[in-house]
Amino acid sequence: MEREAYDVLVVGGGNLGLWTAYELSRRGAGRVAVCERGWCGGGATIRSAGVVRQQGGSETAVKLGRLSRELYLRLGEELELDSGFVQTGYYILAETEEEREGFRRLVELRREAGIENDWVEPGEGRRRFPGLDWDRYLGATYTADDGYVHPPVAARNAAYAVLSADDVDLFEMCRVEAVEEAGSGWRVLTGRGIFEAERVVDAGGPRGAREVAGMVDVEVPVMATRHQIVTFPRLPEGAEHPFPLLFVVGKGYYVRPEERGALVGMSNPLEAADRSGDYQLAFDREYYESLRPDWEAAFPALAGLPVSRSWAASIDYTPDHLPIIDEAREGFYVLAAGGHGMMWGPALGYKMAELVVEGRVGDLPPDEIDLGRFSREPDPDRVPDTIALPFPKD
Ligand SMILES: Cc1cc2nc3c(=O)[nH]c(=O)nc-3n(C[C@H](O)[C@H](O)[C@H](O)COP(=O)(O)OP(=O)(O)OC[C@H]3O[C@@H](n4cnc5c(N)ncnc54)[C@H](O)[C@@H]3O)c2cc1C
Repeated sequence: MEREAYDVLVVGGGNLGLWTAYELSRRGAGRVAVCERGWCGGGATIRSAGVVRQQGGSETAVKLGRLSRELYLRLGEELELDSGFVQTGYYILAETEEEREGFRRLVELRREAGIENDWVEPGEGRRRFPGLDWDRYLGATYTADDGYVHPPVAARNAAYAVLSADDVDLFEMCRVEAVEEAGSGWRVLTGRGIFEAERVVDAGGPRGAREVAGMVDVEVPVMATRHQIVTFPRLPEGAEHPFPLLFVVGKGYYVRPEERGALVGMSNPLEAADRSGDYQLAFDREYYESLRPDWEAAFPALAGLPVSRSWAASIDYTPDHLPIIDEAREGFYVLAAGGHGMMWGPALGYKMAELVVEGRVGDLPPDEIDLGRFSREPDPDRVPDTIALPFPKD
């Protein structure tokens, strides 16, 4: 194939790249190509837990979570397919006084940003969800319409939406090897030939965003680290199921229903950046065993259950857990999820399409999404987003 010309070329066919292409098409951005070095969704997207939480720790997080939820549901309706979204309600649990105070402040921030969010005292929590040992917690924040998507269904829908769009071409097994300036646009060299594009969107994910940006001398602080998951096939007779999502932020684990059982996701705070380049990583059984007593005590229905599946994979992170939505050089855009690409992916695609077509991102604080924030002096008034997995400091 020789010199295909596009208005926008998206590098990466994960949740972010696919949603970007789909939203570009909805906005009539011209001919769009997606170049994916493997198969669509086959990176972090398919390995994720799919939690979709509007209860963010910053204005940006709340708005992106809310918009993503809406977009997942809208796409399901549009395609007349299961959206993949399952609404369960979601408790974020406070273990310390400091968390309790911080979480209560976040309830206000979230309400101002447009979502329903309540503070739940342990007594009320016990009444609503007696399956949890509320004596361990000082309360929780709760949103009733949070939940999760089944990652394979979400990936299928986004890929199908892209394949159904006349103005988008999807190239799988198409690795982007170099990006060069060419006139007012870019020449993109791939394993499947050379493309010309007016604009390029780098949505290369934990194992590509940094490398692809490096091709045009842009430094992007997207790193990868291990995050791991176990699933249990079914809860014991009499246990409430489905149950609401639970996040013990301080310990870096969360629990959600999975078919008739449960899924637990966990991140070790001592994990370092993983520079192997692999998506699939070794499961850290020792860490799993060290954390297991905690969730078994908190949610006794999980105690002693057999494991049906376990895996560890590369999760992306940025230094402040927030996304990157920016035009790093004229016509070269960077999109990264900061480790929240399932709960924010649709909204990030929407916002990136907005930036490409309209030249600006509406309704989000610029200093929570731009690339420049990593090299500026930190704003002392900016409150860090604390509702996130523990990621490495480097
Ligand atoms: C175990 C686990 C659990 C998680 N759970 C959640 C969760 O519950 N909720 C949540 O919001 N997030 C979760 N995440 C994070 C989420 O999966 C990611 O943030 C999200 O998938 C990132 O999407 P992406 O499109 O940026 O990356 P990816 O899905 O990795 O897609 C990037 C794509 O770019 C392609 N690519 C890279 N370089 C090139 C190149 N040079 N040329 C062509 N193609 C290229 C890759 O092959 C890949 O398919 C989890 C992650 C893991 C690992």
